[in-house]
Amino acid sequence: MSGHQEYSFFGAVEQSFDKAAKFTNWDLGILEQIKQCNSVYRMHFPVKIGDKIEVIKAYRVQHSHHKTPCKGGIRFSTSVNLDEVMALAALMTYKCAIVNVPFGGAKGGISIDPKKYTAYELEKITRRYTHELIKKNFIGPGTDVPAPDYGTGEREMAWILDTYMSMKPGEIDALGCVTGKPVTQGGVRGRREATGLGVFYGIREVCAMPDIMQKLGLAMGVAGKSVVVQGLGNVGYHAAKYFREGGAKVIAIAEYEGAITNAAGLNEEEVFQHRKKTGSILNFPGATNLASSNDALEMACDILIPAALENVVNGDNAPRVKAKIIGEAANGPLTPEADEILAAKGVLVVPDMYLNAGGVTVSYFEWLKNLSHVRYGRLEKRFTENQNKDIINQIEGLTGKKVDDNAKEKIEHGADEVDLVYSGLEETMINATREIIDCWKKNPAIPDMRTAAYVVAINKVATSYNELGIFP
Ligand code: GLU
Repeated sequence: MSGHQEYSFFGAVEQSFDKAAKFTNWDLGILEQIKQCNSVYRMHFPVKIGDKIEVIKAYRVQHSHHKTPCKGGIRFSTSVNLDEVMALAALMTYKCAIVNVPFGGAKGGISIDPKKYTAYELEKITRRYTHELIKKNFIGPGTDVPAPDYGTGEREMAWILDTYMSMKPGEIDALGCVTGKPVTQGGVRGRREATGLGVFYGIREVCAMPDIMQKLGLAMGVAGKSVVVQGLGNVGYHAAKYFREGGAKVIAIAEYEGAITNAAGLNEEEVFQHRKKTGSILNFPGATNLASSNDALEMACDILIPAALENVVNGDNAPRVKAKIIGEAANGPLTPEADEILAAKGVLVVPDMYLNAGGVTVSYFEWLKNLSHVRYGRLEKRFTENQNKDIINQIEGLTGKKVDDNAKEKIEHGADEVDLVYSGLEETMINATREIIDCWKKNPAIPDMRTAAYVVAINKVATSYNELGIFP
């Protein structure tokens, strides 16, 4: 949709859904049920800020109950509104389905600018919001499990957990009421970087597909590719990090104050520190400033990673986008109109609802850890290491040769929690990429990868409804 019309994010999700539904044979009633948001909770509550009372507007939307609990982040931003939260909740349903995470989709949001409040005020707002969720049974390890999103992080999740635990004393699985917690409060190692790492694994898998790379006129592999990242929040920062470590060049980074570029490549940590010190990414040593953040979206590059908010590539600027691959690290960064324009130009759009599913995938691992009350690797790590040592001793004894120390260390190592989380995430992202591409190949009439991803998601959710049966 162009800038002239009022943009509806939920409308865009519905449009993409309808485009894909044509490639399925499901009952129209089931399709309609999948599309709708099952429960919408809009709240207003008062919080004392300084000596004034502020009325805070907030939401929690549960898009689908075909599997429970519902799952999805909580966003703190002035752009939060019902349409946005509904769209994000719907994307969570499809996201979870694609990566086989057994949750329904949900999303929450508080319409505030977190930068305008002290930590103490934010804590009061977060705790009061949690109270409201508890009152209406919109939170709990078996009902609805929030997580971080734009404007929130581990600190807010710890406040939510503490509020929940204090109101539900003795609930044995209470730790599973929220994910993205600090590791000391029941979080899982690897959750913080999960979304960015998942984006990298997904794009790396696409870049390992010879037919796709050939069509795009690109060499195989991530190494040597030029990457532009929009947004240096948690997701953008980690995506940039893994692309750089994978041998790609991050030639530009954009934030809302502007963008910087350097053809030789930028180091995300140095840029992050510069921004922390000066309050802006601009004037980073060795880089050139771009006046507007949006200019970065139109730079010539192999891979564009929008990792901030929705609706940044639309009918207006899509014709000027020069990237060959767009990896949607954010939720909904492209409008349906942009999709059409980019598909016609032969740009490969790797869609949000699976590419950024790394966050919720590792949230699922965290929730499982909370329900099992034991850290991953605790039981088997030493057993594996002892067994591996025995194998090496046998090999050395039989061959009369020594295994070198580096190799020995690597072979002996039993899996830690973070090893298991990364390997589970890698496996999930690779399988999801292949499943979507296979679906696309089986039906060449499907116009783009987003539509293929929706087809995969719709088939899974509809199968689940069918197997559950509809309550008479
Ligand atoms: N907010 C993240 C997302 O949009 C993570 C959700 C979760 O972990 O539940 O996918």
